[in-house]
Amino acid sequence: MSASDSVTVRVPAKVNVQLAVGGPRPDGFHDLANVFLAVGLYDEVTVTPADELRITVSGPDAHQVPTDRTNLAARAALALAERHGREARVHLHIAKDIPVAGGMAGGSADGAAALVGCDALWGTGASREELLEICAELGSDVPFSLIGGAALGRGRGELLTPLEVGGAFHWVFAVADGGLSTPAVYRECDRLRGDAPVPDPEPSPALLEALRTGDAAALAAAVDNDLQAAAVSLRPSLAETLRAGTEAGALASLVSGSGPTCAFLVKDGQDAEAVAAALLASGSCRAARVATGPAEGARLVAG
Ligand code: ATP
Repeated sequence: MSASDSVTVRVPAKVNVQLAVGGPRPDGFHDLANVFLAVGLYDEVTVTPADELRITVSGPDAHQVPTDRTNLAARAALALAERHGREARVHLHIAKDIPVAGGMAGGSADGAAALVGCDALWGTGASREELLEICAELGSDVPFSLIGGAALGRGRGELLTPLEVGGAFHWVFAVADGGLSTPAVYRECDRLRGDAPVPDPEPSPALLEALRTGDAAALAAAVDNDLQAAAVSLRPSLAETLRAGTEAGALASLVSGSGPTCAFLVKDGQDAEAVAAALLASGSCRAARVATGPAEGARLVAG
């Protein structure tokens, strides 16, 4: 088979620099003000013609990723095939570098990547709007994986407004052993709040301005994650990880999305290496990864 018989799509992870969570809606979702930033940790999805739909996964966390039709990459291929009246006869290979169940939207990323890859391989010619519509059906975080950069997500996070970003932000990500279930973290958030009134989630003007101007110190002062208390409640050791990053000089330390990955905003690349080394030395995480954001959304890299 020649190289032109397959396409490869690279897709970034995300960190939520603000995640404001409203009360539970009747449909079980929560209204959000969700400020996404795509960061340069990537999965790659390679799509190759095959007799039937097949998924393989490589990478250190590959064993935690389903290879049946519950995989978001498989669901994306099936959704596009169904809309265009064809069979999803492809082999999807996921080279996984985004932590699994880590609050960095790894599964969503693979869904967006498979969609872009199948569209290119099949010559479907789906419009951006159609791809975004399928993404929103697949999951709240999937549309953002397609567009990348930075965006404000309203509704359950899928109604996106792209945001201007004035510079590169430097991050360190502390990867934990084992994941946290996103629905369980939302349930814990509701439980901790009890009967207290929950304000409507709104984006922070100071945070949006810090992104626009590329000001890391101002962004650090504004980052906020309403799911952090719940993630720490379910995984108390995260408090130690967050403390280790702060003591090592991070400008801001926060849980990424529903966790358990912790995100540390730092001044520059040199500080990133120093904070990563200190986090590893503290023994409070399995791995420490350095990345900058914003990063481009799902893009063809070969084929
Ligand atoms: P989010 O930040 O969007 O809440 P997450 O980063 O916490 O997501 P994922 O890595 O997307 O979590 O994985 C959540 C669960 O989704 C996994 O435990 C796994 O069972 C399932 N899953 C389905 N498809 C994939 C995929 N392609 N990669 C990883 N997990 C997947």
